[in-house]
Amino acid sequence: MLTDTHTHLYSDAFAEDRKEMMQRAFDKDVKRFFIPAIDSAYTESMYALEKEYPENVFLMMGLHPTSVKENFVEELAHVEEQFKKRNFYAVGEIGIDLYWDKSTLEIQKIAFRRQIQLAKKFKLPIVIHCRDAFDEIFEVLETEKSEDLFGIFHCFTGTFEQAEKAISYNMKLGIGGVVTFKNGKIDTFLNQIPLENIVLETDSPYLAPAPFRGKRNESSYLELVSKKLSEIYNVSEEEIAHITTKNSKAVFGI
Ligand SMILES: [Zn+2]
Repeated sequence: MLTDTHTHLYSDAFAEDRKEMMQRAFDKDVKRFFIPAIDSAYTESMYALEKEYPENVFLMMGLHPTSVKENFVEELAHVEEQFKKRNFYAVGEIGIDLYWDKSTLEIQKIAFRRQIQLAKKFKLPIVIHCRDAFDEIFEVLETEKSEDLFGIFHCFTGTFEQAEKAISYNMKLGIGGVVTFKNGKIDTFLNQIPLENIVLETDSPYLAPAPFRGKRNESSYLELVSKKLSEIYNVSEEEIAHITTKNSKAVFGI
């Protein structure tokens, strides 16, 4: 059984064929889906998805860094409101993104830090989104690090040194389609990182693995990521599925 630790299945990209898309994932033995939040605009569709697939869908709650704008205080209040109402499996996705907008760096840091503190309070993992912002993310983690702080560095695309640093903050590396890209780079050093630190993800509908690069991604493609990892680590696909699902259970507690 495979676990997709990061998949936006509630996305409008699946409005036309969500049922079929889910069935294709089940057929590939992808049975557990961890669903990151973006902002309040998506909360209801996340709840609807969970209602449809209560055995398979596990929700996170958080404010995505690219949604940290002028109204971020209200958005954070929405996040906290949801945590008061019910359980989630992680605070995510949260972090810093300097690719889309550098001007919001200061408020992105504030939102990231506040949500880390929320995760500590609820003893939940964090799921980190990092784009063009390794130094800034590590700076925040350095001041917030503690035994209660743990989680996943989602869509990890850094260097070997950055991978080791992320792991030193109790983070597992979320590995997805990028590992199948010709210029993705992480495939060149990943086998030096023990498999105990790796979880699988698609980040659907984004970042489809080869040979679907550039197309809509979906959770059934997780099989292609698993296949690539079995080549990199020179172990069977069953072994990859077993270990990475076990790692996902260790992080999310389910
Ligand atoms: Zn995402």
